[in-house]
Amino acid sequence: MWEEYPPTLRISKKNRFSERESMRIIVANDDGFYSPGIYALAEAASRFGEVLIMAPDGEQSAMSHAITIQRPLNYRPIKLDRFEAYRVNGTPADCVALGLYHWGGADLILSGINLGSNLGHDVWHSGTVAAAKQATFFGVRAAAFSLDLNGDEPDYEALRPHVEAAIRELLEADRPMLVNINFPQNPQGILWTHQSVRAYNGQIMESEDPRGRKHFWFGVVPLTNPEEGSDRWAVEHNYVSMTPLRSDLTDEEWLRKLRR
Ligand code: MN
Repeated sequence: MWEEYPPTLRISKKNRFSERESMRIIVANDDGFYSPGIYALAEAASRFGEVLIMAPDGEQSAMSHAITIQRPLNYRPIKLDRFEAYRVNGTPADCVALGLYHWGGADLILSGINLGSNLGHDVWHSGTVAAAKQATFFGVRAAAFSLDLNGDEPDYEALRPHVEAAIRELLEADRPMLVNINFPQNPQGILWTHQSVRAYNGQIMESEDPRGRKHFWFGVVPLTNPEEGSDRWAVEHNYVSMTPLRSDLTDEEWLRKLRR
């Protein structure tokens, strides 16, 4: 997998890579810098290396892999405990590109922890996953972290050992470039899974405004009976789901048929 990606960053303003001993980890998200999830992830990541936080200055959920090209971007320092942190007036993908620019590279990019799971087709809409994907476009290993919400207030302190276990799993030798990780509220272990794509949970819901005019919401319907071994199945059975993803979407089976 590694060989497919350029060994050097094309974006770097300066590369301080080789001078460093400890691992450099950029933490981004799509919920914005005020989300408790990003702080929880930064805390866990700081056990493994130096952390830089780059987060959108507002909610950017479901922005997918959008990048900002019609107006200038900026990033401004914010106070986030002991971390070097910046808020970005852009998308999750912008945050990662700017983070890599600012540091002149990184060893690992972690995105999240998203408030809400990113399972199955959510991967297409998710800003959390896109931030991680953006990192791999620049040749940096990355993972997206999302927490399944069951109505209770998330307990990030209780989740922390599981987040650290997932990061340790990512750092093992011979691991994929891009991993989509979903946590149940009370994990009992980690499973490598596939993306569940049998059913789609998106649907348009119709309602009315106070003046009687129709309006619409893109809502989510709960899916049942997920395939065994899939991301949704794992989370439903209280396992941390880790799905290796790839950026090449070519349908190889069709390509072989069509080239015959
Ligand atoms: Mn989000």
